[in-house]
Amino acid sequence: MRIAVAEIGQETGSFSPMQADLSDFEAYGLYHGDEVLEEMRGVGPIGGFLDVAAAEAPSATLVPVIRAWGSAGGTITAATLDYLTKQLVAGLAKALPLDAVFLSLHGAAAAENDDDLEGHVLAAARAVVGDQIPIVVAFDHHANITRRMVTHATLLVGHETQPHDPPATGRKAARLLFRILRGEVRPTVAWQKIPLITPQDQFLTSVGPMQAWFDLAREFERQPGVLDVSPYPMQPWLDVAEGGWAVVVHTNNDAELARSIAAEMAEVAWHRRAEFWASERVAPAEAVRQAVAAERGLIILSDTGDSVYGGAPGDNTCILRELLAQQVECLTLVPMIDPAALAAAMAAGVGAMLTVELGGKVDRAFCQPVQVTGRVAAISQGFVVDLQQYGICDLKRTALLQVGAIQIALLDHRSFAVNHAVLYSHLGIDIDRAKLVVVKTASNFQFFARWRSGLIRVDSPGTTQSNLHAFDWRHIPRPIYPLDPLDEWQASPKVKRCQ
Ligand SMILES: [Zn+2]
Repeated sequence: MRIAVAEIGQETGSFSPMQADLSDFEAYGLYHGDEVLEEMRGVGPIGGFLDVAAAEAPSATLVPVIRAWGSAGGTITAATLDYLTKQLVAGLAKALPLDAVFLSLHGAAAAENDDDLEGHVLAAARAVVGDQIPIVVAFDHHANITRRMVTHATLLVGHETQPHDPPATGRKAARLLFRILRGEVRPTVAWQKIPLITPQDQFLTSVGPMQAWFDLAREFERQPGVLDVSPYPMQPWLDVAEGGWAVVVHTNNDAELARSIAAEMAEVAWHRRAEFWASERVAPAEAVRQAVAAERGLIILSDTGDSVYGGAPGDNTCILRELLAQQVECLTLVPMIDPAALAAAMAAGVGAMLTVELGGKVDRAFCQPVQVTGRVAAISQGFVVDLQQYGICDLKRTALLQVGAIQIALLDHRSFAVNHAVLYSHLGIDIDRAKLVVVKTASNFQFFARWRSGLIRVDSPGTTQSNLHAFDWRHIPRPIYPLDPLDEWQASPKVKRCQ
């Protein structure tokens, strides 16, 4: 038995001023051939797939093709999409004959020359391997499901939780793949787009309407004949032709069951649409006041408009400006991705006083640089950290700029560790002493869970802001809630039977 394994993933922010090219993928690990198996044990959906394959089909021959992960960023260049597609196609062609393909894709990636990267890649893969073998895909549930994806994939399995557990999604998809290969099941897919976008504020699957919706999916999966129910609340900064929420249901050759579950899942989301827009966001000045007034730390200030994991530049100065204006006196940790300021700090050296224009250099639409004068408190020439299921992360050069009680960690690139305590601890900060920390994410607070005593969602402007009305939407299908007045809508799922 021969199974090809590949990963191509990035989450695109259509409103980001950045573009993503191959260097973005190299920064998070671009592997070819056998390197994929060596580097991905225990990491991401491929790590989960490898665990299940070792247990369920130890004699199977795995043919690793490519692993290209670009995290989140701007629109992918045409040359990059062409390169990645060519690599995948050539690798699959060389691997033939195959019995199956396991793909890990994000689902919300858009390129200059095709706004549906995953549909593009799946169509190319299907053209190589033919119609007779299963292509099983692990997706991020913030994916934008498109017609081409469903046409060319046999099974589409989304994450079950936010924050995500990518290896778990890989294991779930892998178990289904081996059931198909053993002839135990024949998947039938029903899918339904939902004319809805919502901000990130209600994205956690542990509370609120998102928890209820995802719990309902798990409940349906316990019914006999149901293989997978994946809700897809699309990430809200993707302005593409088929954009919007979706649900995908797989049954064992039961079209009617798949259709009825997809319809119910879609209508439940639609009926709760206003709840998905509920928000506890606090204006920046008030957020800083509340955080300072809190009895004890650590208070997390979530910079919702500048979520690096959502593709924002990570150089928004909105909260820093407020911290400076209010002259906070408690130890406050702030990350800032600013290569020029970092270079200035490195040149000045530890102990030197430095005046720099900080941040606001990439995201010029939503913020301005802020001038600060501080002492270079620490410098690191490089630091590699194992973030376990999130992979190996190279922080590269960093520095700490101390402005009164504010410790600003300067980074030169959008590292995954931007929201991790190690960013500060490797520069000599004792997190136990900190009262406030700014994180550039609206959902992934887990790296400060040990210290966390409070969380304030700051209504900061930026390319990942929650006020979706402020963006210039050009491509998303209309009408869509809540950009347009849309009260009446009914689900009518499409069905596809697989081989
Ligand atoms: Zn996601």
